[in-house]
Amino acid sequence: MLLAPVPLPGCVCLPWASALMDLWGRSWRRVVPEAGGKRPSPPNRSRVNGWSRPLHSFQAVAWVTVLIMAVASFGIFIPFLPRDWKDVAYGVSFTATGGLFFLHLSVHLLAVSIDPAEPNVRRKKNYSEPVPTFDRSKHAHVIQDQYCHLCEVTVSPKAKHCSACNKCVSGFDHHCKWLNNCVGGRNYWYFFLSVASALAGLLCLTAVLLYVSIQFFIDPAELRTHPCYKKVSNKNTWLLFLPLFPVKVKTPVVLGIGVLVLLLDIIGLLLLGHLLVFHLYLMAKKLSTFDYMTQGRQQQTPRAAAEKEELSVQTRLPQVQRCPSSSPLILCRPGTTPRVTL
Ligand SMILES: [Zn+2]
Ligand SMILES: [Zn+2]
Repeated sequence: MLLAPVPLPGCVCLPWASALMDLWGRSWRRVVPEAGGKRPSPPNRSRVNGWSRPLHSFQAVAWVTVLIMAVASFGIFIPFLPRDWKDVAYGVSFTATGGLFFLHLSVHLLAVSIDPAEPNVRRKKNYSEPVPTFDRSKHAHVIQDQYCHLCEVTVSPKAKHCSACNKCVSGFDHHCKWLNNCVGGRNYWYFFLSVASALAGLLCLTAVLLYVSIQFFIDPAELRTHPCYKKVSNKNTWLLFLPLFPVKVKTPVVLGIGVLVLLLDIIGLLLLGHLLVFHLYLMAKKLSTFDYMTQGRQQQTPRAAAEKEELSVQTRLPQVQRCPSSSPLILCRPGTTPRVTL
């Protein structure tokens, strides 16, 4: 089944976002088929958290990006700030950026490490044992009357059985590929803070990059106020990783790093800004990502006409486990079902 991308509401539906959603979401807009199909099967055992196998490439991309931005901020660009106002601006920049970085690191780690499973799943389930295969000849749906036939426990009304984690998640919002973990009631605020702190950190970095870029062309001497530059006579030579591990590089290297970091910064600002606005909108409407996406599906008609019958069956079944989004901007795993037909 193919699902059209669900446009975000009103002011948050930007043309570039829709295009990106369409581009990235193209291969994700599928529902995992029944057992025996070609699409990826859910793991045999329930995953505990974002560190459980299988790991995801998006997860590695997220951590590498965090590392690059941290090294670029603290090792390269903040040390360019003028020595004479370092006590104030440098201190503020370092403290603000550093504080945001450690806040982001903490909440990011918590969002990845927390097991968002239902209390009964965490209490009763043995994660080392294989999850049974769903037998639709015996049950119409995975969750019926708040009982999950795969987890074999009773669950709360807002629980969904995530196919990527192969377990029921309490207060299911979405499965996040970047965290490689489900986002549910237990870790939603850590996820939200992770997005907000990353965005705030990128805004700080943007301010520093803007200052450095402007001074680079107007008055480069303002960027060479650190005492280590007294030993550097060539104006075409710059020092990175001050003050601890000064490394001499030429101007093109600094420019290349600057352009790369600025590009990552802009991409991060656009994606995270869009995501933050989307979740603020969801909060205002008291919706989860799952609620929003299932509502959106119901409102779609043209492209989904041929799928209407199947979709209507799915959306009538709130306990059926479907990760809702195909959008990289919502950072979800697309709708999937563990060896289940609906
Ligand atoms: Zn379950
Ligand atoms: Zn999940």
